[in-house]
Amino acid sequence: MLFVFSAPSGSGKTTIVKEILKQYPEFRFSISATSRSKREIETDGKDYFFITREEFESKIKNDEFVEYELIYDNNYYGTLKSQVDECLSKGECMVFDMDVKGALSIKRIYGDKSLLIFVKPPSKEAIIERLKNRKTETEETLKKRIARIDFEMAKIGEFDYVVNNDDLQTAVEEAKKIINKYYIKEQK
Ligand code: ADP
Repeated sequence: MLFVFSAPSGSGKTTIVKEILKQYPEFRFSISATSRSKREIETDGKDYFFITREEFESKIKNDEFVEYELIYDNNYYGTLKSQVDECLSKGECMVFDMDVKGALSIKRIYGDKSLLIFVKPPSKEAIIERLKNRKTETEETLKKRIARIDFEMAKIGEFDYVVNNDDLQTAVEEAKKIINKYYIKEQK
């Protein structure tokens, strides 16, 4: 099963996904490739595969992505087919942290093997506040992220489930309940 967490940037999907991975260490995280530069706290091959713009474009030509996008700072982000296919062929569960358009592409390609979960922020103001507090944005990227919020929120009806991320712990519990409908942990 592919568990896809998605939302406008700043809703808290990365935070929730990190909690889920702690509680389900047997799940594989889908590591995206990106051409953006690494933030100080990030690790190559763990948070993202950081590749150059040229490498990214060559992989696009070779049809190696499930989905990819050119966003914000003119950077590419994408999910490599090889990652997902390897996981499915082993019968493993994979967790995704991705933007709304990417999530809908996963559904289009993998259908019932994927479960789309929308992480809903309490309000647009809350997203903006969280983005500012995260201190990762320039004025320019902040503006671009804000400009996408309405478009992304409008896609909520296309998701299988919605998790309200007002209180983080409650949101994580809600997410676990959804996962547990589809996944039974093996007793060791
Ligand atoms: P996304 O991955 O959706 O862009 P992040 O997980 O990076 O969002 O979260 C954006 C910011 O909001 C982070 O600084 C995070 O610590 C904070 N955050 C996440 N969930 C909550 C919550 N429920 N309440 C308050 N702040 C939150």
